[in-house]
Amino acid sequence: MSGFDDIPTTLSRLEKRSLYRRRRIVDSPLSRVVTVEGRKLLNFCSNDYLGLAAEPRVADAFKAGIDRWGVGAGASHLVCGHTAAHHELEEALADFTGRERALLFSTGYGANLGAINALVGGRDHVIEDRLNHASLLDGGWISGAEFHWYAHADMHDLQSRLNELGDGAGRALVVSDGTFSMDGDRCPAADLATTVRRHDAWLMIDDAHGFGVHGEGGCGLVDPARLNTTDVPVLMATLGKAVGTFGAFIAGDAALIEFLVQRARNYIYTTAIPAAVAVASLASLEIVRTEDWRRERLVELIARFRTGAAQLGLDLLPSDSPIQPIVIGDSARALAFSAALESQGLLVSAIRPPTVPNGTARLRVTLTAAHEDGDVDRLLAALDEVVIAVGKS
Ligand code: PMP
Repeated sequence: MSGFDDIPTTLSRLEKRSLYRRRRIVDSPLSRVVTVEGRKLLNFCSNDYLGLAAEPRVADAFKAGIDRWGVGAGASHLVCGHTAAHHELEEALADFTGRERALLFSTGYGANLGAINALVGGRDHVIEDRLNHASLLDGGWISGAEFHWYAHADMHDLQSRLNELGDGAGRALVVSDGTFSMDGDRCPAADLATTVRRHDAWLMIDDAHGFGVHGEGGCGLVDPARLNTTDVPVLMATLGKAVGTFGAFIAGDAALIEFLVQRARNYIYTTAIPAAVAVASLASLEIVRTEDWRRERLVELIARFRTGAAQLGLDLLPSDSPIQPIVIGDSARALAFSAALESQGLLVSAIRPPTVPNGTARLRVTLTAAHEDGDVDRLLAALDEVVIAVGKS
């Protein structure tokens, strides 16, 4: 037995390689400007794309939810934690995504682990995009199914992987992020659906970053008008990003959802989200659906940022989403750029391996509907000074 004596060595190795992660203590509500360790910083790193995390109407619903339901759910959904508020939210989510049913999970991470593990096991195959989120990868690895990668968004490569499986090789589940969380580009959802259906496999899309942002009324990338449950049988999305609250759900046909209720361990063995969070999420969902101006504002801000960045000669990834990363490469440099931006009053986090592939550390700039034009201009001016000036020296 080797014991655990190497923990301090591992920590110092991470530090030396600029891969050590530190939490920042935030001392204000999450909004356009946040107070971090006593300083007010313009926030360009949250996933609160529609600016709803601190929205007064959502906060009021949350408070009313506490008055009505108390604080904690007290149990898992299958014991006594599933209230009428959870149920109403599930029905609203199913309706919004054009699916028969939706099932609430306590986190997106758990939803991905739970769904993949329920659907595939020892004799099966899981085939994932190279840039999928960690929770999708973990779900595939833990399931015990044979794990296959396909090159990022490459339908030819996916096609070859599926061809290699041949007939009678168990189930095959193809899994992709909808909008890629660290790159901001979208999966080719319609092509994925066609390719996967040809092989009698199933497609699962994690729309964590597209739900609320894309599609009619913000219904997400997997717009039911174009992609139904035959095309995308397993749809996952989270409530902690554009919706501004917490939790996640899987949407699909009634049989899938009932199967997950019976088999998804991350559903069965976890305390339900507080009912008040469900009440707040319902209120937020109504705003998401009806306030198109938030999405329109995002589109304007994204265009402003991309035009400005192009004028500065900054290399951006092909993203039309609020996620606008600037790839730096080296982790130490990405950290240095992030620190330099912070000294100018801007909070932009450096994302490093293993969250992104080696050699592709980046500044993950995110925009929200709460930003003002002047905020984007300030960010561009700072990037000009920090990344371009420093980067060229
Ligand atoms: N999927 C994706 C694509 C994500 O970006 C995230 C959150 N970073 C999750 C799943 C996990 O969601 P949650 O934060 O609700 O656990």
